[in-house]
Amino acid sequence: MHYSIFSVLSQAWKGQTGWTPMWREPQPKRAYDAIIVGGGGHGLATAYYLAKNHGVTNVAVLEKGWIGGGNVGRNTTIIRSNYREPGNLPFYEKSLQLWEGLEQDINYNAMVSQRGVLNLFHSDAQRDAFAYRGNAMRLHGVDATLLDREAVRAMVPTLDLDNARFPIHGGLLQKRGGTVRHDAVAWGYARAADRLGVDIIQNCEVTGIRIVAGAVTGVETTRGFIGAKKLGLAAAGNSSRVAAMAGLRLPIESHVLQAFVSEGIKPLVDTVVTFGAGHFYVSQSDKGGLVFGGSLDGYNSYAQRGNLPMVEDVLEEAVAIMPSLSRLRMLRSWGGIMDMSMDGSPIIDKTDITGLYLNCGWCYGGFKATPASGFCFAHTIANDAPHDLNAAYRLDRFATGHLINEGGAGAQPNLH
Ligand SMILES: Cc1cc2nc3c(=O)[nH]c(=O)nc-3n(C[C@H](O)[C@H](O)[C@H](O)COP(=O)(O)OP(=O)(O)OC[C@H]3O[C@@H](n4cnc5c(N)ncnc54)[C@H](O)[C@@H]3O)c2cc1C
Repeated sequence: MHYSIFSVLSQAWKGQTGWTPMWREPQPKRAYDAIIVGGGGHGLATAYYLAKNHGVTNVAVLEKGWIGGGNVGRNTTIIRSNYREPGNLPFYEKSLQLWEGLEQDINYNAMVSQRGVLNLFHSDAQRDAFAYRGNAMRLHGVDATLLDREAVRAMVPTLDLDNARFPIHGGLLQKRGGTVRHDAVAWGYARAADRLGVDIIQNCEVTGIRIVAGAVTGVETTRGFIGAKKLGLAAAGNSSRVAAMAGLRLPIESHVLQAFVSEGIKPLVDTVVTFGAGHFYVSQSDKGGLVFGGSLDGYNSYAQRGNLPMVEDVLEEAVAIMPSLSRLRMLRSWGGIMDMSMDGSPIIDKTDITGLYLNCGWCYGGFKATPASGFCFAHTIANDAPHDLNAAYRLDRFATGHLINEGGAGAQPNLH
């Protein structure tokens, strides 16, 4: 069914009885031209662009749980392209451009909201670094505005500019950044891919990768063997476990990252704000809850839950820049598993095994990358060669030293 004002009105007239399931629940076929492991945002977007841009429709997405149960439904929904390094900036800008046309493209309301992303700075040195990043963005045609203290005060009056432990000197604003409803992205891509013929198979865990004479022939799953000429891995926090099935050891560590939502309140913050003297960021959801997060819990884990010391840390940082938040009650918190790469940038590449492709290393930032990641990974799988936009996201950069060190924190994922 095509979503439009006419279908909404006609369903209202029929008592909402005519809506059909958003995607089919097919049985797995014996073999596909391509299989994508992982029904998160990246896997579903890859399947969609494989079908739409490359005409490869005999595709299955295998998901061990349910669509939206991984990080795509657990993140804090922020999108932006305010990167500095040449390898990252064009890629994330492409992603932002795809977000801007996504809802029309996939005929789904993903609540794309370009409410701005404001990075606060708290020292002269940090202002210099942000000015440098803003200049790099503008040179690439990406919007960036350096705000002084009074402009920040006018934009977010609830910030404590004067008495805070780390006084706010200004901020770098990307107006086109913002938020997108995360699970709607998974549902929208799943529905759009399904309509192009992609089989989305939930409750189907990949347990082994079959390789014959150096080439992929298919996967062992909890629902039996499924053949495939091409296999794309997009398992996010579980990337190292899935890649190990093909004998690959990745430069990835899996870490817990938590997110938090407060009780719903009237409009308080109409942009995304990030604290520059620690790791804290906040926005307000359309339901009124404040959505915020901080740093990694700091230890390796595959469990999708975090611990209380980080809760305390994040809440301290929240109150440090917005003291009025101390009157709020926290409603929910949860954890997701981050695939932390050693330079803070992702990997989208083919491997030395014929027909095996890798998409991982998204660290804190993979949600905003979803459309471009799917676009580039589909190109890489279809052409057996990277797109210009992901040419720098090579697996062998960790051997050759061509790192894209956006995090600037070296090989310590707990410091990214
Ligand atoms: C708390 C939190 C906040 C975040 N905030 C932001 C943010 O504001 N902005 C941003 O850009 N990014 C953010 N991120 C990062 C972002 O969510 C991730 O980088 C991105 O979602 C990862 O890609 P994905 O959507 O494909 O992952 P996922 O949704 O995790 O998809 C991977 C899927 O693979 C499946 N899988 C794993 N193993 C197997 C197997 N063996 N067989 C079959 N299926 C398997 C999993 O079940 C999962 O569904 C955040 C992450 C977290 C946890």
